[in-house]
Amino acid sequence: MDYSVKHYIKHLPMQVMREQYQDRDKHLGYCRQCPRYDKIWSCPPLSIDVEEFLGQYSWAYLVCSKINLDSGLIQSTAGTKNINDIGWDIMSAVKLDMDDRLRQLEASVPGSITLSATACNLCEECTRKSGLPCCQPDKMRYAIDAFGFKIVDITKDVFSIDIQWTTDRLPEYYTLVHGFLTKDEVSEALWSEIIGKG
Ligand code: SF4
Repeated sequence: MDYSVKHYIKHLPMQVMREQYQDRDKHLGYCRQCPRYDKIWSCPPLSIDVEEFLGQYSWAYLVCSKINLDSGLIQSTAGTKNINDIGWDIMSAVKLDMDDRLRQLEASVPGSITLSATACNLCEECTRKSGLPCCQPDKMRYAIDAFGFKIVDITKDVFSIDIQWTTDRLPEYYTLVHGFLTKDEVSEALWSEIIGKG
């Protein structure tokens, strides 16, 4: 494999998460300029009442996956035309894996819900583009940034990691931040069962 992944977990009271790391109005402005706006069910405009949805939870767990890329891969792909696709394929695989793990955790934590890192990528093309309902509502999870949570700030403040981006070459690492909202705190043992795997 051309990369390795390390996962970090922190949690905050929901109230603190919202006061310090949510700016819905500003973020929605960015979302409106995104090609995924109104095209993917996990992304804005959300078809749920956001206040009612978030109001159900007392704790926000944050799972930061740091994806360290091999220097050989970085060198061999530098300057290639599809550099963004190479980066996205790696992030996409890590995101799908973590989505899967967190859905398993939901089953052990009553009343919990996962917020996925970025837009849903379960289907090749989202049904929203054709005006149809989500075809995998049991698996789809809303994107954490769709609620206006400031991922760059969270990654820097909570995990002490500066986000890196693809330029004409891959960065040393990517980061993905998933959310996991709960009514009660989750034991470390349960987390290590899910995140400690591979
Ligand atoms: S599961 Fe498929 S249809 Fe549903 S939001 Fe994700 S990509 Fe769209």
